[in-house]
Amino acid sequence: MQVFKFGGASVKDAGAVKNVSEILKKQAKNKTVVVISAMGKTTNSFEQLLNEYFYKNGNPDHVLQQIKDFHFNILRELFPDKNHHIYTEIENTFVEINWILEESPAFVYNQQYDQIVSVGEILSTKIVSAFLNQNGIKNKWMDARDFIKTDNSYREGKVNYELSESLVKTELLAELNLNEIILTQGFIGGTSENYTTTLGREGSDYTAALLAFFLDAENVTIWKDVPGVLNADPKWFKNTKKIDELTYHDAIELTYYGASVIHPKTIKPLQNKNIPLFVKSFVEPNSEGTKIGNTSRRLAIPGYIFKIDQILISIQPKDFSFIAEDNLSDIFELFSKHSVKIHAMQNSAISFSVCTDNATSKIEILITELQKQFKVLFNEGVELLTIRNYDQKTILKLTENKTILVEQRSRNTIQMVMSNNL
Ligand code: ASP
Ligand code: MG
Repeated sequence: MQVFKFGGASVKDAGAVKNVSEILKKQAKNKTVVVISAMGKTTNSFEQLLNEYFYKNGNPDHVLQQIKDFHFNILRELFPDKNHHIYTEIENTFVEINWILEESPAFVYNQQYDQIVSVGEILSTKIVSAFLNQNGIKNKWMDARDFIKTDNSYREGKVNYELSESLVKTELLAELNLNEIILTQGFIGGTSENYTTTLGREGSDYTAALLAFFLDAENVTIWKDVPGVLNADPKWFKNTKKIDELTYHDAIELTYYGASVIHPKTIKPLQNKNIPLFVKSFVEPNSEGTKIGNTSRRLAIPGYIFKIDQILISIQPKDFSFIAEDNLSDIFELFSKHSVKIHAMQNSAISFSVCTDNATSKIEILITELQKQFKVLFNEGVELLTIRNYDQKTILKLTENKTILVEQRSRNTIQMVMSNNL
């Protein structure tokens, strides 16, 4: 059996959904589990809805109406029969959100987030599943919250592997024995009390990898709007090249440092069971794409990742003492407590520098806490460049007109925190 994952862009309108059904018609052979994200930018819209509702500013009903119109427009194109049951089903899903909006928030922010934002995946999978069934691609819709079980770290649910594995091997597998195709949601899970959790933005890839891991799948395919994994993000660089084959190791290094083509958590479960991952274009489904797996082919060209909106924080003990193990462990504890992910770090005798996303609210709280114990300096608006398999020519080209504030080199990877020269 195989696992397919379709992201938001691959189901962003009626034409895109039809394209998915074409791909499945040709490629869903001998048992396929299909994982689907919310349609287009629906997750962002639900985030906006949640913020306006939770913080009582703006007009959440208006945002909900936009989300509703977006989905019903797609429905009308896909289902000419106005009596098709999907219309009532989708209507009912929206009614549930209306009920939430009528009351004051029942939960703290993150928990409320998951209860609302997760609906994007419920809507998309119900629509795609019904469309496929209508067009002769028989499939069974399943609710991922029944088998992807997490703790209650809302917005970053930690998956309970043992419990999820046993549920997948019983409930999902039983249905897979009866149906050629199982269709389910990425990104969402459920707690033991049956509250909805999410696995972190762009987490659908991770769901696909987990299901493949639990089911010992032959392979996973992530269908994207790019031809495969490129050596750089086409948003920032011209002349990008597709990489044909990539080792798990190169893939995890590239995605960890921000190559957004696949979610970084995807690689580990697949590597652990040696399950190959294909990244392919849903525009040209017959093209080769990229194969990530146990290949002996190391990255032959430099791969680079560019992150903007970074902040460089320098932390120094107030009394001129060394940055030593005890200080460092206090510092790391604060970063972990506030879920701030470190992208690059460097230390000297009396200073420790960290580069991270400048996610304002989290960072402000973190800096205030750090300041109780340390002197804290920071540089906003810096960029982080990571080059895997670097060479001098690439470094020079990419750092032209930049001031390098921090540089870290290992044998295969160089990282530079830089600011633009005026
Ligand atoms: N829909 C979710 C998001 O946009 C999950 C995903 O797309 O992977 O973050
Ligand atoms: Mg998405």
